[in-house]
Amino acid sequence: MVILIRGAEVFAPEPLGVCDILVEGSRIAYLGETDSHTVAQLPDSTVIDATGLTAVPGFIDPHVHIIGGGGEGGYATRTPEIDVADIIRAGVTTVVGCLGTDSITRSHRGLIAKARGLEEEGITTFVYTGSYQLPARTVTGSVADDIVLIDKVIGAGEIAISERRSFQPTIEELADVVSQCHVGGLLSGKAGVTHFHTGSHPTRLSPLHRLLDDYPIAPPAVYATHITRDVELIAEAVGLAAKGAYVDMTAGTSTVESVKAFAEFGGSLDRLTLSSDANGSLPKFDAHGRLTELTVADQSTLFEQVWACADTSGLSLSQVLSFVTSNTADALKLPRKGRIRPGSDADLLFVDEEHSVQHGFAMGRPTISGGELLVRSTFDQRPR
Ligand code: ZN
Repeated sequence: MVILIRGAEVFAPEPLGVCDILVEGSRIAYLGETDSHTVAQLPDSTVIDATGLTAVPGFIDPHVHIIGGGGEGGYATRTPEIDVADIIRAGVTTVVGCLGTDSITRSHRGLIAKARGLEEEGITTFVYTGSYQLPARTVTGSVADDIVLIDKVIGAGEIAISERRSFQPTIEELADVVSQCHVGGLLSGKAGVTHFHTGSHPTRLSPLHRLLDDYPIAPPAVYATHITRDVELIAEAVGLAAKGAYVDMTAGTSTVESVKAFAEFGGSLDRLTLSSDANGSLPKFDAHGRLTELTVADQSTLFEQVWACADTSGLSLSQVLSFVTSNTADALKLPRKGRIRPGSDADLLFVDEEHSVQHGFAMGRPTISGGELLVRSTFDQRPR
């Protein structure tokens, strides 16, 4: 299948100006100018006029509770699985699934099955092995073995630090899991990153700073999320990124302010990513640790906050897009993801001035056309 999308202004995420994009199968085959003569010679091709639209890489969401999470308020507060339509509507074409607080009634077996299901429904998926609490839950009995032997597993996470809901791991235990991940990554050619949930305890990121300062750990193997709980935490994340680690902000109402603070503190903008935490629980606890509220995170927040940042953070569109495309691809070592260039996977969004996706592609397959969603979850009951 050959698709030529003509006339969009391309942010790859760096600005490339108006370019035509030729998609062949699941990959981008060509990027540049095409004339009507070339177009006439393309066999069995579909030509889409994208004049006036902005082309950006499909977003990579590195932290999604694809089989749900939660349960902090009892069994009835276990959150639901994600629907592929919600992923596509949020402009996301690649997700990394993880377990949450509950790795007792939820397992990697379910996580991997759901990831494979989402891939059959059209998007690219990976998962983290390990769990919130240490010792890490795994499939094979070892974090390193899971990464080497199971295709979908690219690292471990989310592993909780500075968090009441964790089992309070020692620095030695953290060093052990990060090293297992790193070695598993080396042997399998994968990222081997460890994705850390940062809780609200005032120890904040100090366990990860100690890890990088006191142990022979490769800094990019450390990837910390939820770094926007307060200004002090953002400042510590700036320090961690300066050492070469990756840091991630969970999209929410304060994302624009958090991104601005990170930039103002001199944070390395090529080490920052955004994620949704979609379908995870957003529990609130009082000072005594009692649950006062529990809601479910929505992936659309990520999409909305990317455009809010592009419009109001003072950073360029290209810079903001890198937080959900090229930076994430680098953190997760996904060389065919997160960039519009020949040879890359054809994960593309064509967005209008209102930030509404007019055309979308995942692995070269149309997902949105003329603003209409083309992909439905398997059990969507509406007539097709
Ligand atoms: Zn978390």
